[in-house]
Amino acid sequence: MNLSREQILHEMGLGPLWKLRAAPAPEAHVQPVAMPASVPAPMHAPAPVPAPTLAPTHAPTADSVENMDWDELSTTVAACRQCRLCEARKQAVLGVGDRQADWLFVGEGPGAEEDERGEPFVGQAGKLLDNMLASIALKRGENVYIANAVKCRPPVNRTPEADEIAACRPYLQRQIALIQPKLIVALGRPAAQTLLQGEVKISAVRGKLHDYQGIPVIVTYHPAYLLRNLPDKAKAWEDLCFMRRTMRGLQAVG
Ligand code: URA
Ligand code: SF4
Repeated sequence: MNLSREQILHEMGLGPLWKLRAAPAPEAHVQPVAMPASVPAPMHAPAPVPAPTLAPTHAPTADSVENMDWDELSTTVAACRQCRLCEARKQAVLGVGDRQADWLFVGEGPGAEEDERGEPFVGQAGKLLDNMLASIALKRGENVYIANAVKCRPPVNRTPEADEIAACRPYLQRQIALIQPKLIVALGRPAAQTLLQGEVKISAVRGKLHDYQGIPVIVTYHPAYLLRNLPDKAKAWEDLCFMRRTMRGLQAVG
């Protein structure tokens, strides 16, 4: 018998993969709130000048990002000026961990300490994330990769805007393609919306298996939110158990 991964997950009581309804066609938008599907629209940064052949370009298209290896991706992100978040950052924060990890955790964007140190989730929320990982026997860097929806710190830690997330999305897409994780965990709403391509409410999407280009996605609360809303930690614990169970199923499938 040759069951698909989706069928096997279903047999294990882990399916179905939930898909958000496709985002409406742009002309159907009354208020365009969903992320544009792929190509980052040029921001208020200067429009890319038609390339003088040898000039360095810091305005890669989604197409060119699609073919980058890790080195090119790091260099490009470090120099990126595709959205206004480049203006106040100290450094872009690409991500950290095992580049062949089964687990990919995606947060929102760097905060002050991450901007300073160049590593995601190293502040208070990061400590809680490390504890959450430990609770399901995971450790930063060991079969785990951690990234963010936007690679540069939003000023005063505001939520990144939809256009900023869209501008940065090709980098996350490329990270996912390079890592090929078995499971993606979206921490909080911006990450969930980036991966699921639509408006989401955490309470409505948690506890279900979603899909990003064939890779299962589980959504849970952002650790920074949990620090302010302790009662929801119980739900986060349920989500962690759901993740662990799902990963066991995925690892069993191979
Ligand atoms: N919050 C995030 O979403 N990401 C970080 O890297 C740090 C805090
Ligand atoms: Fe580029 Fe992303 Fe930083 Fe914006 S947030 S400047 S798109 S790396």
